[in-house]
Amino acid sequence: MAKRVSYQEFTFEEYINEQQIHDVVKNIATQIEEDLKDEKPLFIGILNGSFRFLNDLFSNFTMDCEVEFIKLKSYESTESTGKITELIGLRDSLKGRTVVVVEDIIDTGLTITNVINDVLALDPKEVKIATMFLKPDIYKGALVPDYVGMEVPPEFIIGYGLDIDGLGRNLNSVYKKIDSVSLEHSKKKGMLNIVLFGPPGCGKGTQSAVLKDKYDLVHISTGDVFRGLDPESELAKLAKSYADKGNLVPDDITIKILQSEVKKHPNAKGVIYDGFPRTSAQAEALDVFLKSKGGSVTCMLELEVEEEELRSRLKGRALDSGRPDDADPAVIQNRIDVYNSQTAPVAAFYKEQTKHKSVNGVGSVEEVSERLFQNLEEVVA
Ligand code: 5GP
Repeated sequence: MAKRVSYQEFTFEEYINEQQIHDVVKNIATQIEEDLKDEKPLFIGILNGSFRFLNDLFSNFTMDCEVEFIKLKSYESTESTGKITELIGLRDSLKGRTVVVVEDIIDTGLTITNVINDVLALDPKEVKIATMFLKPDIYKGALVPDYVGMEVPPEFIIGYGLDIDGLGRNLNSVYKKIDSVSLEHSKKKGMLNIVLFGPPGCGKGTQSAVLKDKYDLVHISTGDVFRGLDPESELAKLAKSYADKGNLVPDDITIKILQSEVKKHPNAKGVIYDGFPRTSAQAEALDVFLKSKGGSVTCMLELEVEEEELRSRLKGRALDSGRPDDADPAVIQNRIDVYNSQTAPVAAFYKEQTKHKSVNGVGSVEEVSERLFQNLEEVVA
């Protein structure tokens, strides 16, 4: 039987053993030496996770090379734009240098994209990317890593530098999470807090209604709340001025609205959050708010739908909904762009907490519902 380890309430099973890791790293080191044999490269490791990979790369190098580290704070960012905060930054110039940026794992690609942009701004001769792991099902970025140790499925892994809440980095093999104990954990706590997530037109509203009925939950859509306000009220006018252009209502307003809606349902069995949180700041605020009530987000279900399909669905919806933000193709495109730029970090926030589940949003309403039910089964059993 495969080796298992447990951290907090989570159990992980060995997935990539030491020998496999050793062989992969040796192979990457050889490739880099061949590619950069006439150079004296500078390796820039992204802390914390990459320290083991970079150390093992180094022990395989015979070439002259230097190393530096940068340290970033990404998922804990309070910026709504998904901006990454630097804790240890880069030097002032990389002029003329051949740089290899070393990452432990590329998931959404937010971290590596930010780092590469910063590195390029310092005028290096050449930049390469080496990552030990890549999640190709999640990473859809434009940058193509030059050296990839292994491709892994879109699941949470630990070991060989990768952690769960700071632990597990010292494991010499890589382990994959085998259960959804975060869901179990929430079940024990009683209240379900389900974040239904996805781009405009992915079916959040429709599926929220289905989930609400099936599991007897309260459905809170911040969009519906804004649209339901007295149109003459200052708040309604303010919200409309953003929404009509396809932009997000500012975080402080949205968070207050959300909190007051939740408080209206003190005896709810659970809540479906539809269209909230839409930024990292909102996700953090929701965590803090639920914690203050002794709860936590149970899981985030992300409905995945291609952009082309979204555009056609929204166009169709405009005929019935009368929503100005559904009717204008430019506004629709802005909503999709805002979603892509501001909401990717929200999914990352829940992935980091191992609470994210991707659900195919294409198919009949019943088919998509069925997929959601399957994901929620453990939670409501
Ligand atoms: P990205 O910015 O590409 O979404 O994520 C990069 C960072 O997220 C990694 O450096 C790592 O800290 C964290 N991360 C992403 N996926 C995993 C995973 O499966 N396990 C662990 N432990 N950390 C991950």
